[in-house]
Amino acid sequence: MAKPREEKTLIIIKPDALNRSLVGEIISRFERKGLKLVAMKMIRLDDAILADHYGHLADKPFFPRIAKFMKGWPVIVLALEGLEAVASVRLITGETMGRRADAGTIRGDFSMSVQANIVHASDSVENAVKEINRFFKPEELHGWERLDLEVLYAEDERE
Ligand code: UDP
Ligand code: MG
Repeated sequence: MAKPREEKTLIIIKPDALNRSLVGEIISRFERKGLKLVAMKMIRLDDAILADHYGHLADKPFFPRIAKFMKGWPVIVLALEGLEAVASVRLITGETMGRRADAGTIRGDFSMSVQANIVHASDSVENAVKEINRFFKPEELHGWERLDLEVLYAEDERE
């Protein structure tokens, strides 16, 4: 098996989670999983950043609808780090359509919608790098050594 890689991934806590007072719950799930919080801020998205971020959906009929939703309220953006963090976070996020997402996932437990599906999470290591650079300046990313590594990972995973 290939050696697991340390990765960073980008999360956006969407306006539905903010309005429903789920922000703490969502961050708590990532923390409890063992992901390391390395950046976080509350921002208001605009058309330029949304066109960039949802570039893969620009031609879809629902693009104006999600853009309006995402810029209608502030959002919380965070970067999380861990071994294979991108795939791990996608697993606990659940599938795009909230009402079909597995129970136990964030979307499965808190969402009935495709648009109001609580969080965005990077879908590949390559996109995670782009998205982190899109939302954070280098000085906003904090490198820190966590104290519980010994109980979080096996010895060879920590090397
Ligand atoms: N979306 C939507 N309608 C659709 C597909 C997607 O409103 O039919 C929204 C939804 O909020 C989703 C976002 O567009 O989270 C980005 O879509 P993507 O396919 O990248 O899904 P994700 O990676 O968020 O699961
Ligand atoms: Mg996506």
